[in-house]
Amino acid sequence: MLAFELPISVINFAYLVAAILFIYGLKGLTHPRTAVRGNLLGAVAMFIAVIVTLWDHHVIQYVGWGWIFGGIVVGSAIGAYLAVKVEMTGMPELVAVYNGFGGIASVLVAGAWLLSGTGGPSHELTDAASALGAHDLMGNAGMSAALMQGTIAAAASGLIGGVTLLGSLVAYGKLAGIKWIPDGAFLPQQKAINALLMIVAISLCYFTVTDIMGPTNAAIAANGGTVEAVTTSTGWYYTGIVVIAFILGVTLVTPIGGADMPVVIALLNSYSGLAAAATGFVINNNVLIIAGSLVGASGLILTSIMCKAMNRSLWNVMFATMGPTSSTASADEVYEGKIKSTSGEEVAMLLETARRVVIIPGYGMAVSQAQHAVRDLANLLESKFGANVDYAIHPVAGRMPGHMNVLLAEANIPYDKLREMDDINSEMDQVDVAIVIGANDVVNPVARTDPKSPIAGMPIIDADKARTVVVIKRSLSPGYAGIPNPLFAADNALMYFADGKKAFQEMIEAVKEA
Ligand code: NDP
Repeated sequence: MLAFELPISVINFAYLVAAILFIYGLKGLTHPRTAVRGNLLGAVAMFIAVIVTLWDHHVIQYVGWGWIFGGIVVGSAIGAYLAVKVEMTGMPELVAVYNGFGGIASVLVAGAWLLSGTGGPSHELTDAASALGAHDLMGNAGMSAALMQGTIAAAASGLIGGVTLLGSLVAYGKLAGIKWIPDGAFLPQQKAINALLMIVAISLCYFTVTDIMGPTNAAIAANGGTVEAVTTSTGWYYTGIVVIAFILGVTLVTPIGGADMPVVIALLNSYSGLAAAATGFVINNNVLIIAGSLVGASGLILTSIMCKAMNRSLWNVMFATMGPTSSTASADEVYEGKIKSTSGEEVAMLLETARRVVIIPGYGMAVSQAQHAVRDLANLLESKFGANVDYAIHPVAGRMPGHMNVLLAEANIPYDKLREMDDINSEMDQVDVAIVIGANDVVNPVARTDPKSPIAGMPIIDADKARTVVVIKRSLSPGYAGIPNPLFAADNALMYFADGKKAFQEMIEAVKEA
């Protein structure tokens, strides 16, 4: 216990400050120039929230300092290690794991409240209700309502948090390219089985609530008194909810493949926020409710942006399993005898006369960490030949939302040079040279032409409409969606087979000598 308790008004004021900082932090994250400050504001807000929550005696009286400091030290050490060690290309996997951690934290906190009795319903009714902030003044009805709120929220936390954990682990596996994770549904009737599992999970939520509220209301009817509401069945019901949520996390995310992972990552991010907000209602922690709702809402907005970028409805992404179909053309059919290779010297000669150049970055730029070399070539073309160089940014290029923006901002490329897909596409037919670096799916014209392809209907950057397209990649391997790209075999396309950074360095040397 702390030497003195903070008055509830101070605690709530600190939570309000943290909430405002979270909101300003989020606002900062909407622009690369203010993103670092936004991140810092979010970190300060989280620091305030953690310290004040520790001070809040409703929490601290149940947990020893050893556990709290042990958790902080272990968590901070792992967080700091990962932040320093993880490569930029590993960030999406890290984000997937963070979402999963958020989910399991909610499952554990809600489960502990529900089952351990520390503030949960196995204590005397008055203890449990006052831990929820329902004070004696509220009377029995108020206490019962508070207990009901906590119990429903705990069941919701278990369900959403469980789906988030296993869903995120499957997403992690897919992003990391783990081969044994299947691409399709496990069983032909998977959707019906999922619907059935969902009904069972919701029924178990109902039983959890009635298992606790039944004896509670009976005790109230008998004029208050001790409520030993946590029976063995409550534990089993909650365990059942969590196990089914785990299974649903796997069966819902596994069939989603092709190029739809950006939507899934954004949705799981939103789920982790919703689970946290539900847990905030369980332990009656205002800042957790606010922060969880912010994550939930911003994740949903991101989901909708990603759906728009893929030209898919959320329903379609979640439930219409897609993968390369038998009608998808093979690599041999697409490429045989049609590929023209080029070199740094040849591209430099093209660039010498180019007035308009557009650079289209993709995941390969992140892999090769070519962003600084990309900037150097663009600067050289502008200063030496007076060319106009822009960057065409596809919303799902790379492996996480905003991946390309982050990399190019790191290389100090002016933000007004980054052109959004819708904006630049109308000008692509006036572009002399389009340089595609490590992008594949986001420039694949099959999205326009083959309704059976896994990227069917996804808007792409119209690189094929430029006078000449130079595609820099190491081989003819497919991109994330796993399909061949007819752009590479187009009449106006030249393939520059090399690592992205090496290719740009070679082009810089050749342009300097030109
Ligand atoms: P792709 O995954 O389609 O293609 C990347 C290409 O980069 C590969 O074909 C690869 O070819 C090349 N590459 C890899 N390493 C290097 C290197 N060192 N130097 C040069 N090239 C390299 O990337 P896009 O950005 O075009 O598309 C993103 C895809 O990822 C979309 O399908 C999207 O849906 C999906 N996705 C996006 C997420 C997001 O939030 N943005 C999240 C999850 C998935 P090679 O091996 O021959 O070099």
